[in-house]
Amino acid sequence: MSINLEAAVAPGFVEKAPLERYVDPDRPSLAGRSRAELAAALGEIGVPPAQRKMRVQQLWHWLYVRGVTTFDAMTSVSKELRAALENRFTVARPEVAAEQVSVDGTRKWLLRLPGENPGERPHEVECVYIPETGRGTLCVSSQVGCTLNCTFCHTGTQRLVRNLTAGEIVGQIMVARDRLGDWPGQRPPDAAVVPTDGGRLVTNIVMMGMGEPLYNFEAVRDALLVVADNEGIAISRRKITVSTSGVVPNIKRTGDEIGVMLAVSLHAVRDDLRDELVPLNRKYPIEMLLDACRNYPGLTNAKRITFEYVMLKGINDSLADAKALVRLLAGIPAKINLIPFNPWPGTRYECSDWETIEKFSEVVFNAGYSAPVRTPRGRDILAACGQLKSATEKLSARERMALRAMAMTE
Ligand code: SAH
Ligand code: SF4
Repeated sequence: MSINLEAAVAPGFVEKAPLERYVDPDRPSLAGRSRAELAAALGEIGVPPAQRKMRVQQLWHWLYVRGVTTFDAMTSVSKELRAALENRFTVARPEVAAEQVSVDGTRKWLLRLPGENPGERPHEVECVYIPETGRGTLCVSSQVGCTLNCTFCHTGTQRLVRNLTAGEIVGQIMVARDRLGDWPGQRPPDAAVVPTDGGRLVTNIVMMGMGEPLYNFEAVRDALLVVADNEGIAISRRKITVSTSGVVPNIKRTGDEIGVMLAVSLHAVRDDLRDELVPLNRKYPIEMLLDACRNYPGLTNAKRITFEYVMLKGINDSLADAKALVRLLAGIPAKINLIPFNPWPGTRYECSDWETIEKFSEVVFNAGYSAPVRTPRGRDILAACGQLKSATEKLSARERMALRAMAMTE
């Protein structure tokens, strides 16, 4: 089926503009950079072209295999070059402003990123580590806040929005490895962390933190290609999942240019309800979204799309909804992930009763899908998806908006 995307843009879809920009600090960090960017950085400090490839290999190894935090630790690099690098760059990760550890071992880091203008409050994002037997999943953010306004999502209420750079996205994984002692030769900080089979603690990445990854496509792509590179951090594409609320034009690109697993936040089986829950549906309605899913590059029964469905009491949780869901997804290699709604202060929704969730999941299960209900993790530290909203954002956003508005009228 071919659908004219331009003609389909519906009225009533309101999107916040990302007002904030990333501005490089005086000495930018090389952490998170691609091979081409590292080569360019070496060029900047006068390394001749003939030597760059070899030097890039060295930097790559120290940054992404060994996880060093200083140029001094790069012992195979000459002293002179280390000094020249140190003079112009750092290998800094995003600054950890706070760390919380849940009783169930889940860890949440509040990361402070540079603001646009000196003296302004910094930007903040969150990153969450969820240990399970045999694997450890890191939930990574793609934006500060989100331009979309899904009505059940706390991040969506945040007004301040800035795209993260590729370096800041890779930086979250490097911070997690630092804090977990997850680089070669290091030890985890305490026994609460469950070691995994391969010895690594961070085995899986989900782009399910703050932000809509497909609205920051290039940075997410560049970051995930660094993370998946098998000579470096080496988390395989099959263990990386990008979650989208349904940015149709970038779904095919995700498969073609990144080749990772896809998760789609469906949450409703009818357009009228999805228009309300996920307002982006007014631009890219269900039929158009599922069409993009059917054509997802690399889709097979062994590489299925995960459809996320948040359980909202009395809203989308009836047996009729469950039956409609399995009919809707028929023919698409799919997994269905039922997510208990995580309430936040001021929300108008409630989580479905446990009994309702069980009945709903039975219908899904009987249709041939394994229907795991995502166990809420880290509730004591508000670490679940949709809870991610930085504490200091409200005031600073108001201040920034006022500043921007003034700048525009002057
Ligand atoms: N913007 C992307 C990825 C980040 S949100 C997306 O929407 O897919 C990650 C997941 O958490 C999405 O499925 C989202 O719908 C879900 N979510 C958001 N708020 C939630 C809440 N309060 N309780 C449970 N899940 C929530
Ligand atoms: Fe943004 Fe995803 Fe939250 Fe919707 S659910 S507001 S797309 S982060």
